[in-house]
Amino acid sequence: MSPTLRQTLALILQREPRSAVQLAEELLLTQGEVEHHLEHLKRSHKANFKVRPAKCASCGYDFKKRARLDAPGRCPRCRAERVDGPWFSLEP
Ligand SMILES: [Zn+2]
Repeated sequence: MSPTLRQTLALILQREPRSAVQLAEELLLTQGEVEHHLEHLKRSHKANFKVRPAKCASCGYDFKKRARLDAPGRCPRCRAERVDGPWFSLEP
């Protein structure tokens, strides 16, 4: 029996942190689909679901207070649109 998409996603995140963009490329999904699955993983794994905040690629601004899982569109400090992350991982 092959694992479900969400199980595959969980296995990837147990190995190392990934951003939604990276996961979308790896699993051939849209970013929106990945974010949907991440919301479910967050709900089922609760405290074991870790989020490393997104970071502005230009000025290094940390999106620490952001609760949403999708990637921020632009940096509130320098207005740049190059924002990396957030990165997700699962603790065993
Ligand atoms: Zn910035």
